[in-house]
Amino acid sequence: MKKVLYITAFLFGVIASPSFSQSTSIFPKGEKSPNVHHVGNVWLSELSSADSSFSYSTAVAIFDPGARLDWHTHPGGQILIITEGVGYYQEKGKARQTVRMGDVVKCQPGIEHWHGATPDSGVTYIATSPVLKGKTIWLHRVSDAEYGIKK
Ligand code: MN
Repeated sequence: MKKVLYITAFLFGVIASPSFSQSTSIFPKGEKSPNVHHVGNVWLSELSSADSSFSYSTAVAIFDPGARLDWHTHPGGQILIITEGVGYYQEKGKARQTVRMGDVVKCQPGIEHWHGATPDSGVTYIATSPVLKGKTIWLHRVSDAEYGIKK
């Protein structure tokens, strides 16, 4: 009986362990981003900022399921490296793409697009952008129809 209790306690410990049930990102989760240009929960953490030697910024972004950015453009373009989970990426006039851990998305300068998590899975990516060419230009919210939600 004592052995059974020990095993039960061990299994509960494994299941309840944060490393088992939560994000395994090697980067800090950063600050929860205020809901200005997205819906849902998004955390942003700048890993490397632009300076006199490097013209680009690199950040990690963590999205809860259902979270998505508004439509936007980057004057200098953007590269997204998906490190965890499942997300969406869509450029204006094209079909919405599903992106997964290991995918790399190259977004050309000035192209209207949005990215985020899927309704059922969170997503984490590293984003790098030549910010000295100009800041992100925010456009409008992604509609439920564009996100694939039927109401
Ligand atoms: Mn973008």
